[in-house]
Amino acid sequence: MIGIFGGTFDPVHYGHLRSALEVKDSFGLDEVRLIPCANPPHRELPAVTAAMRLQMLELAIKNQPGLTIDTRELDRHTLSELTPSYMVDTLKSLRQDFKDESLLLFIGSDAFEHLTGWHQWQQLFDYAHLVVLTRPGFEIQGLDDFFRARLAKNIKALAQQPAGKLFFSAVTQLDISATAIRSMIAKKQNPGFLLPDAVIEYIKQHRLYETH
Ligand code: ATP
Repeated sequence: MIGIFGGTFDPVHYGHLRSALEVKDSFGLDEVRLIPCANPPHRELPAVTAAMRLQMLELAIKNQPGLTIDTRELDRHTLSELTPSYMVDTLKSLRQDFKDESLLLFIGSDAFEHLTGWHQWQQLFDYAHLVVLTRPGFEIQGLDDFFRARLAKNIKALAQQPAGKLFFSAVTQLDISATAIRSMIAKKQNPGFLLPDAVIEYIKQHRLYETH
């Protein structure tokens, strides 16, 4: 099984990294691919360039076996930077590389709340399982029929078919967001211990996020 963790990573922080590491171990994954998006469809353009977000990600996962970076969304958009990075296209392309393997797309519960606004969101399940990262003790409520029909009882069910299931998985909650980090830096506050030191160094060196 292969894990997929998409994001803007503007910048990458311990909320992303801890979640990726935890699911790698709890789902027994061969790898978790962190996929930085070129142009997120549902938000403003990232504050820094794609190349810089990628470099920060590289610094963050150095020496972390099993966490890898997949640049297909960035590569897809080098010619037309403003085309949105749709996850359904990314999964389609991953499916071509991994024909029979279970693909697990991890998203935070905040992202899941907006899932039905994603481009061709139903088709995500044609290519991957969807795993929503929740708070411990989180209760699944008000799922509509489309989702309820796809609920997997356990992790084993995700290994039995390559795509199509929905699963909720509790991870350690770290209330860290890239928005809050950018805002701290703009206010000259110290973001220490919210993201790796190497990334903080990079941000300082390149004077990123100093203005809103
Ligand atoms: P921003 O504040 O700029 O919106 P973000 O911190 O939410 O950024 P993204 O790169 O947009 O980070 O998030 C990528 C994925 O990581 C999403 O699925 C999101 O739900 C998840 N995620 C973000 N922060 C956390 C966190 N603290 N714990 C667990 N998952 C997270």
